[in-house]
Amino acid sequence: MKPFKKLLLLLLLFGLIAGGIFYFRDTDAPQVSLIPGSGPISATTELSLAVNDTLSGLKDLSVTLVQEGGRIPLATQHFEPGSEAFTTAFNLKGKKLKNGPFQIEIVAGDQSIYRLGKGNQSKTTFDLTYDTRAPIISILSKAHNFNRGGSGLVLYQLSEETSKHGVIVGDRFFPGYQQDSGQYACLLSYPYDLKEAEFIPRIVAVDLAGNERQAGIYYRSKGKTFRQRRITLSDNFLQMKTPEFEALVPEVTDPLDIFLYVNGEIRQQNRAKMAELGLQTSPVPLWNGAFLRHPNSSTVAFFADHRGYYYNGNKVDEATHLGYDLASVAQAEIPAANAGDVLFADYLGIYGLCVVIDHGLGLQTLYAHMSQLDVLAGDRVSRGQIIGRSGATGMAGGDHLHFGVFVSGQAVEPKEWWDNHWLTDNINSKLELLTH
Ligand SMILES: [Zn+2]
Repeated sequence: MKPFKKLLLLLLLFGLIAGGIFYFRDTDAPQVSLIPGSGPISATTELSLAVNDTLSGLKDLSVTLVQEGGRIPLATQHFEPGSEAFTTAFNLKGKKLKNGPFQIEIVAGDQSIYRLGKGNQSKTTFDLTYDTRAPIISILSKAHNFNRGGSGLVLYQLSEETSKHGVIVGDRFFPGYQQDSGQYACLLSYPYDLKEAEFIPRIVAVDLAGNERQAGIYYRSKGKTFRQRRITLSDNFLQMKTPEFEALVPEVTDPLDIFLYVNGEIRQQNRAKMAELGLQTSPVPLWNGAFLRHPNSSTVAFFADHRGYYYNGNKVDEATHLGYDLASVAQAEIPAANAGDVLFADYLGIYGLCVVIDHGLGLQTLYAHMSQLDVLAGDRVSRGQIIGRSGATGMAGGDHLHFGVFVSGQAVEPKEWWDNHWLTDNINSKLELLTH
């Protein structure tokens, strides 16, 4: 063969290989993802669509709704060469869909010359359910009486599965819990720091598609004013507490500054911890009978006492006392107020050595300033079981028990839970209404 012919053949072969590589370079169709891509959605659910083709780039895209054989074109799009990825968000507001199953069909093509220049095409179908109906809320309980700072229970029924339900009070949310009967129970509070006009409890339910409904509750509320207390900080007290608190306060040495940091910053952190624990609860009540009060104790401080702290005659801080201070003998045996699960048994800032017991439905009791703990987190305790001994750890000047009651992390008046009449009328008799 002549060298010229050889070169021509080589070139031809090279051309064929190069053309082949180019032709077969992209045989994959564009990738499509849709979130949510399954399950129930409402007219306002935001859908996120992402399409990409990194090899040859996107060429066109069409999105169609399909329901019972009918087709509703939603969007078509053509792309300039070089468009590797496309993302968009949309909802189905104003589209003529019926409640029920439907599909979103997404067809996407790329710029590849494969398939005689037609390129690759993907067709992806997502099965969803259209749901624009909010859950129906039926309130089952009657006589909802709330005292400021106190608790109450509401029972209700929901028409469908939900992602969230409970009672909202202003910016606070009290989750409800499904009972064995299938009905729902929600413990809530008229928070001590809300004025009567601000206490408007409403049941809220959001279904899996995101449809929300609220229902008002027929209720009666009673206001209450809490005590103002003046607390004098002595150098003695500050000196005594400094070594314990130093570990919690970095780079502060002045005893008053240490106190102020613990009484402010640490107190806030500890309340956040109680709010977090409030969600770790048994969905069914674990208590039985009225709650026990620390036996043979006298009350040193009440729930929601507003305290002004004075040092050398000047007001240096203030705080609300969210429990009862109960004093008896030093290192007194402390019984669990009721049956439940120990959620926390450790040192926690202002509370010192403390125990938190969960009684179910978000109801929890706190035993603070203990000198000794006899239980561990995870223990199941019975009503009256000794959980430790009183002491003066944390923000305490002398040996006493700080007893707190919380409903889904909201501090409430413990007195109600000690009162068998109140408990029967407002809580236990309602729970007995649930059909089993
Ligand atoms: Zn206290």
